[in-house]
Amino acid sequence: MRASNTPAEATAASPSTLPLARTFTAEPGDDRPVLFISDLHLSPAIPRTVAAFEQFIRTVAREARALFILGDLFEYWIGDDELASPWTAAQCALMRSLAADGVELYVMHGNRDFLLGPRFAAAAGATLLHDPCVIEIGARRLVLTHGDALCTLDEGYQRFRRWTRRPWIQRGFLAWPLAWRLALARKLRQRPPPTQSYNPAWDVTTEAVNALFRAGACSIQVHGHTHRPARHREAGGERWVLPDWEMDHGRLRGGYLRVDMHTITCLPWPD
Ligand code: MN
Repeated sequence: MRASNTPAEATAASPSTLPLARTFTAEPGDDRPVLFISDLHLSPAIPRTVAAFEQFIRTVAREARALFILGDLFEYWIGDDELASPWTAAQCALMRSLAADGVELYVMHGNRDFLLGPRFAAAAGATLLHDPCVIEIGARRLVLTHGDALCTLDEGYQRFRRWTRRPWIQRGFLAWPLAWRLALARKLRQRPPPTQSYNPAWDVTTEAVNALFRAGACSIQVHGHTHRPARHREAGGERWVLPDWEMDHGRLRGGYLRVDMHTITCLPWPD
């Protein structure tokens, strides 16, 4: 009999080409969930959103086994010398406090904070994640990405992304004076955010989504970036899109994905 060519079977047959970042196995007596957030865009300019994040870290995240932040935690990050800012240092110290309670913290770069580096990771007690990467939670395999690399219709942005991810370009940029880097960050942020109007160029493409399912040999995908939270059924599996957080302007929104050994739930924050 000819083998059927369903996506699920094709996925199962091909090995993953992506790094496996962490495996969470069922531990007797430990039913803590693994949580996912993204796109908080934190800066001192949005104090209510910052306060919601701080409360999330102090309460919900503290009960978790691990917290994954899948990009755009900060509105911009022009180098780890950002840590000289007392506001930034305080956010990192708060995140670092999770480790004392046995909560693992993982951070992926977004398109705004892709220069988060080793000094940030040390200050926040975080492990930086490769984008994309795979994690296992019990019997499930999840492929994680920020999501900007899936928006393949935006060719100009994808070219920009490839350039800015090159280590030698980043080294050059980090050698610039702080004032120049701040000026460039301001310029890049003038790009309209995807929430203002729907433009398909700012959304993911089916081709990129299904290629990622195959590359990760996964049937669950989690990403942020598009600010269009949803659970999609795709040919390759289930795609969860995380919400962005906004408590200062317009419609209040935010939330997190909760994954335990048996269920996946997207929960609003605040309720
Ligand atoms: Mn983004």
